[in-house]
Amino acid sequence: MAQVLVFVDQVDGVVRKPSLELLAVARRLGEPVAVVVGAGAGGAAGVLGGHGAVRVLVSEASEFAELLVVPKVDALEAAVGVVSPVAVLLPSSGENKEVAARLAVRLGSGVLVDAVDVVAGEGGPVVVQSVFAAGFSVRSRVSRGVPVVTVKPNAAAVEEVAAAGAVEELAVVFGGGPAARVVSREARAVSGRPELTEAAVVVSGGRGVGGAEGFGVVEALADALGGAVGASRAAVDAGWYPHAGQVGQTGKSVSPQLYVANGISGAIQHRAGMQTSKTIVAVNKDAEAPIFDLVDFGVVGDLFKVLPQLTDEINHRKN
Ligand SMILES: Cc1cc2nc3c(=O)[nH]c(=O)nc-3n(C[C@H](O)[C@H](O)[C@H](O)COP(=O)(O)OP(=O)(O)OC[C@H]3O[C@@H](n4cnc5c(N)ncnc54)[C@H](O)[C@@H]3O)c2cc1C
Repeated sequence: MAQVLVFVDQVDGVVRKPSLELLAVARRLGEPVAVVVGAGAGGAAGVLGGHGAVRVLVSEASEFAELLVVPKVDALEAAVGVVSPVAVLLPSSGENKEVAARLAVRLGSGVLVDAVDVVAGEGGPVVVQSVFAAGFSVRSRVSRGVPVVTVKPNAAAVEEVAAAGAVEELAVVFGGGPAARVVSREARAVSGRPELTEAAVVVSGGRGVGGAEGFGVVEALADALGGAVGASRAAVDAGWYPHAGQVGQTGKSVSPQLYVANGISGAIQHRAGMQTSKTIVAVNKDAEAPIFDLVDFGVVGDLFKVLPQLTDEINHRKN
């Protein structure tokens, strides 16, 4: 059976959810073979086998921690040589898109990024992308060589499927080419909330929250739903929320199961970053706000009245 390489994002053996989603995507195309690199990579094998990986190719070489991007390209190139896959899938992220592009150049094949779905087709994997601020859906196929595809988080549900998960040491020849070197690391403050781009639920606030303290009701709702907090650029530019939380064209692109926009008008640049969300809910006191054109469920009302009631009700039902 055809094999599909899945590049795994992991930290100290803990696999990030988008990589598990990719194993489910890969199973539509063939047998998933996981490539997992860096410190603690071997510790990820169990969970990868438990989610359908028939083989787990592991390299814990120190190069992965010391250099950015290039060692991962070296590893995937080596894995392609071992497996001869029908496709290489990576979770979409800034770094992984660069890895994918460089790998495609080395393989003489094509790259497709930010897929929202990948399905089997007669001529090879068919990739679905959402383009022009999610105004259009595009179906594409790489016509030459091994397709290299980055897939957005939440494109598929995680599936627990027992597979061999046979662990093999991956021999990587590091090219030694120019690469950015890591000179120091600083731990990021942990909020306890999921990563914005990976979260299944994102609750965002815009200028309508009226100030930094106004994000309190947004955060309370996010916590009740186990979600991440996002912000419009207007809120970020006003200094009410950190830039890392900005959703949109010049912020982060999110694609959660549920997106709740509060006090956000729905400008095209904001929509560009959230329109592929599966279900969109908006709370806005202006019934004419453009955000209501794209919602599945809209509440016309003052967010400071609506959100606390919603949060209380969710917490009440959870208990
Ligand atoms: C090149 C470029 C890139 C950009 N990139 C981004 C980007 O990445 N992300 C982004 O978000 N924007 C981006 N923008 C900015 C974008 O055009 C809008 O200005 C911005 O999204 C507006 O943010 P907002 O909806 O929070 O604010 P506003 O447009 O001011 O809307 C606030 C909304 O809150 C509602 N409201 C007010 N009070 C309440 C209340 N108490 N309860 C309920 N509702 C209330 C109002 O009715 C209104 O609809 C970009 C712009 C440019 C030019």
